[in-house]
Amino acid sequence: MVEIKTDAALEAMREAGRVVAKALEAVRGVAAVGVSLRELDETAREVLRAAGASSPFLGYRPHFAPTPFPAVICASVNDAIVHGIPDGYRLRDGDLLSVDCGAMLDGWAGDAAVSFTVGTPRPDDQRLVETTRRALEAGIAAAVVGARMGDIGHAIGSVGRAAGYGIPADFGGHGIGRRMHEDPPVPNEGRPGRGLPLRHGMVIAIEPMFLAGGSDAYLTDPDGWTLRTADRGRAAHSEHTVAITDDGPRVLTLP
Ligand code: MG
Ligand code: MG
Repeated sequence: MVEIKTDAALEAMREAGRVVAKALEAVRGVAAVGVSLRELDETAREVLRAAGASSPFLGYRPHFAPTPFPAVICASVNDAIVHGIPDGYRLRDGDLLSVDCGAMLDGWAGDAAVSFTVGTPRPDDQRLVETTRRALEAGIAAAVVGARMGDIGHAIGSVGRAAGYGIPADFGGHGIGRRMHEDPPVPNEGRPGRGLPLRHGMVIAIEPMFLAGGSDAYLTDPDGWTLRTADRGRAAHSEHTVAITDDGPRVLTLP
């Protein structure tokens, strides 16, 4: 069931989203060559703690996971697509890092992700990151009252396919509200004019993930969480929580 949020709920979700944005900014600020993924997680934890927020990631255990998630961010490096567990790995020059973070504040969730390069960037990675971000913007622009879910997927998928990137079919965006993952699913590819009609008060996480090698195939690491490109090419991920309103899409996970 797709829950329609009240305007008061949208305001409350904006505050949760602001905490997520702060945490991602802080992580990006400390991410540098030699810094460990666990240190990035600690940085995000401090931001959540200071804001009085909790983490919807910590202890999360969806059907596919063998263990509860042990951190407040996902940190996915290079060929890891999403769901990377922050561990003792220390960032190296030229790494491509995707950080995903959520927050629960006053009972409402926010969810966003960003990809960026560490140290000296590879031109191919810059293009991948930029294209993923552009696809997110295209998806947000399509999230308007009167359009349909397929329009969002079409907008995202068109950007990725035009660039020659792979798009894993089984993972994408989702409704969000009192819980991080709600109906409806928000696929990263779709047919224009098809699918669920978009209404004022729907809140969704839009999250393109693109694979530079061009194949859609991925593998799951032995940890049961980390999704990795099957061709070992690099991947990027970009996400915002977005409210669909009569005044147009409202991005809730901005600073
Ligand atoms: Mg996320
Ligand atoms: Mg999400």
